[in-house]
Amino acid sequence: MKIYNTLTGKKEDFQPIKKGAVGIYNCGPTVYDMAHIGNLRTSVMYDMVRRVFEYEGYAVTQVMNITDVDDKTIKRSREEKKSLQEVTRHYEDLFLADLHSLNILIPHKVLRATDHIKEMIDMTAALLEKGIAYPTADGIYFSIGMFPGYGKLANIKLDAEVRERVAKDEYEKENPRDFALWKFTEKGDEVAWDSPFGKGRPGWSIECSAMAMKALGETVDIHTGGSDLLFPHHTNEIAQSEAVTGKKFVNYWMHGAFMNVNDEKMAKSKGNFLKLADIVKADISPLAFRYWLLTSHYHSPVNFSFEAVKAGQNAFIRLIEAFIDFSTVPAIHDDHHHHAHLESVDYKVEFNNVINDDFNMPEAVALVWKLIKDPAVEPMDKSAMLMDFDKVLGLGLAGILAMAKSETLSEPIAPEIIALAEAREEARKNKEWEKADALRKELEERGYEVKDVEGEYRLKKK
Ligand code: AMP
Ligand code: ZN
Repeated sequence: MKIYNTLTGKKEDFQPIKKGAVGIYNCGPTVYDMAHIGNLRTSVMYDMVRRVFEYEGYAVTQVMNITDVDDKTIKRSREEKKSLQEVTRHYEDLFLADLHSLNILIPHKVLRATDHIKEMIDMTAALLEKGIAYPTADGIYFSIGMFPGYGKLANIKLDAEVRERVAKDEYEKENPRDFALWKFTEKGDEVAWDSPFGKGRPGWSIECSAMAMKALGETVDIHTGGSDLLFPHHTNEIAQSEAVTGKKFVNYWMHGAFMNVNDEKMAKSKGNFLKLADIVKADISPLAFRYWLLTSHYHSPVNFSFEAVKAGQNAFIRLIEAFIDFSTVPAIHDDHHHHAHLESVDYKVEFNNVINDDFNMPEAVALVWKLIKDPAVEPMDKSAMLMDFDKVLGLGLAGILAMAKSETLSEPIAPEIIALAEAREEARKNKEWEKADALRKELEERGYEVKDVEGEYRLKKK
């Protein structure tokens, strides 16, 4: 398997620390607001990495953090006049619901920063002891001048002049600089923990070092994030982890490219800060959004526009239609069938090749279309292969098929209706009642009544 490693700037052969196993750490969300669709692009990338390794037979341990204490979460809790925990758990729930809607598998371990304060204190204490961290009036800082490899990941040059400025504390905000491991709090601050160095709370980057090493060991196979995290977050993670252990922190660093909206960076001030609910409102199913995301390589920046995603949804609907056709025609048993079976082996090999080539999902999707259109392959075999490939793509084909099979005998139901019903079922499972109701209305407007029977739903034409 080949992975583009940001640390070396090269596509490399993946060598796991332990044969047949892989530990993956994902930088997760800061839960002070709902996730936007850019965050969700990165979440789909994390899911894709996990699914490919599982498909290849690895024992995967996927770990993701939830940043539930930092300046933004604390500010939000003050604004809302709620406790930090009340605010962060609320947005954590909403984030996990988005993952469900997008058919993203929940990481094996989802770790909250506030459950690992002790580990962060221990790391900070170890760095103080080694003389790599130092106290100031407002906290404990990591001295980047004491860590020779600082900035390697982000290709930041730390020349003699910069070291000098760092030492004298005369650098600009954008420059590499010493960073806080622990921030002292003021009297009356509610969010604070006792520590040997004084009451306070952790700096931002220490949580990922502490949790990654606790869950996956001192050296981690793969660490992922969006490209914005290269510097300073991941740069600082490497410095503080390696300064403590003396070992390489991460073997493969993977970074996903950003998503823009109508060619602009997403920002609340620009009014283009879109959430999953906003695109569902525009009649785009979460699974169609996922399909559209898979048509770009994770290294390429993508530009979201409703037109582009709607075009993706149309293709997705055609894919579902073809898949349902292949899956519901009676099997033909003759020589021709045997012949077609040989053909199908090639697709499986080709599929493996593209997913193992640095997770080339656009090629995987292209291959799916090639298979769909291939007259030499039996429908039944097409159906089986699509189901198999969907373990990686995660487009929910099994669920769609189950729906179609129970209903098509008397009257076929259009795939977009099924997609809506699936989205409603998902929302219901996640207790997003408002969303579920809106989707029920949408179905009714399209002439379908939805009933919940014994934990399953049934569609009936009105
Ligand atoms: P945050 O909640 O800001 O900590 O971000 C959670 C994850 O989303 C991180 O891995 C970020 O790198 C990623 N991310 C933030 N903005 C975008 C964007 N516009 N496109 C893609 N990923 C993003
Ligand atoms: Zn992180």
